[in-house]
Amino acid sequence: MRVTEIIQLEQEEKRKRLIWSVTVRFVVIFIVLILVLLGYVLGLRFELPGILTAVTIVFLYNIVSHYFYAQKHHPVFWPYLGIVLDMAVITLVVHYTGGIASVFLPLYLLQIVGTNVHFSKSAGPLNFLVGGGAFVGLLVAEYHGAIPVVQVWPGVTSMYNYPELVIMVAFTMVLLMGVSTYRSGYVVSSLQKVERKLAGVNDELVEMNKSFITANKRLRELDQLKTEFISVASHQLRTPLSAIKWVLKMIMDGDVGPISKDQKDLLKKGYQSNERMISLINDLLNVSRIEEERFQYRFVDASLIDIIDRLLDETKMMMDKKSIFFERKVEHHIPLMRLDPQKMHLAVQNLLDNAIKYTPNGGKIQLKVYRDKDDVVCTIQDSGVGIPDDQKDRVFSKFFRGDNVIRMQTQGTGLGLFISRSIIEKHKGTISFESQEGKGTSFTFRVPINADRQ
Ligand code: ADP
Repeated sequence: MRVTEIIQLEQEEKRKRLIWSVTVRFVVIFIVLILVLLGYVLGLRFELPGILTAVTIVFLYNIVSHYFYAQKHHPVFWPYLGIVLDMAVITLVVHYTGGIASVFLPLYLLQIVGTNVHFSKSAGPLNFLVGGGAFVGLLVAEYHGAIPVVQVWPGVTSMYNYPELVIMVAFTMVLLMGVSTYRSGYVVSSLQKVERKLAGVNDELVEMNKSFITANKRLRELDQLKTEFISVASHQLRTPLSAIKWVLKMIMDGDVGPISKDQKDLLKKGYQSNERMISLINDLLNVSRIEEERFQYRFVDASLIDIIDRLLDETKMMMDKKSIFFERKVEHHIPLMRLDPQKMHLAVQNLLDNAIKYTPNGGKIQLKVYRDKDDVVCTIQDSGVGIPDDQKDRVFSKFFRGDNVIRMQTQGTGLGLFISRSIIEKHKGTISFESQEGKGTSFTFRVPINADRQ
């Protein structure tokens, strides 16, 4: 924030406080009038004309003040005149309501605390001097009979008959005024210090925010570059890998002449490694398409059950190889939905592959599909290694692989669940999981039947 802006803000803040002080003064005038009226009704002999004149003076001053403060311009002395006037009017009210025995003595303290809060610390000493001087002057003048004492308490002996009492009251009031001036000034200046500190902290936060925005922009640019790089590199790699795949397959199938069993076993290993690389490249390409929003969807009316059954055919061999006990529980009457069959196949495939991959030999997998109101829900539950509790919040992040599965030396890219979640969400669905390490995992996705999918 620039210095001129700070000064402007401080001035605006001062003006607000001055306007607020005008409001408070109106309220105090109103309360004093009510109390005077109450005392009068109760039979106390207040001097009403004098009180009303004093209150009218301060009332008029307040109207002019309001006009000045609303205009943003006022004579410099004006607020200080208010202090002097307030103390003078309070002294008059105190005089007309019994002088030393007046119930309005606390008005002095109210004025001191109020002014310190609304103005600045510098108004405190002026308040104290004017208020203390006026009050002590009033007591001295009334005690010596220079001005007549208003006897408001019928039948009660005047306190001025007891000089010690007069001295005690004068001393106590002046002391209280001093303490109020000091304490309220102290509180206000502490608050101002805190305010200034907060303003400084705020400025620092604004600066930090600016650098975060710049850093964030830079990171986005780098991220974009990385995605583009992956996309280009993957495309370039896929073509030769596909060529290798077909060459190996032809040799393995004996299309170019007979090969021995050992040769075939070796070629098979090469073929499988090549397949893993193709699958990694495909995952990378899919992720970069998702991030660049180039993952094209073609929604048609399709059956989720058909997609799942085709997938089960494809994975049956893998499950048999691991002697996994598989259970399929599919409700009848699951309606057709608008789906992208290829993408949905990929999403469920990732979940099923994981269940098979992370379930030890002889384990169990259950696939359930059922309708829940307007959604179709699919759950794939396994009795596998589970996901460690402290890593559960990262499961759908790119490249996440659990510590336990890394230790098992299973193959994986950590991209499957990221892709599956993106696909399910594009179908306006949700995906979640429950897992207990060592016991098993169940992934559930839910897709609305009638959502608007274009
Ligand atoms: P990956 O290629 O490693 O399988 P995924 O994105 O499909 O990548 O899964 C991310 C990680 O989530 C896995 O590496 C594994 O730690 C954990 N995971 C996913 N599914 C299961 C499951 N059914 N059982 C245990 N862990 C799982």
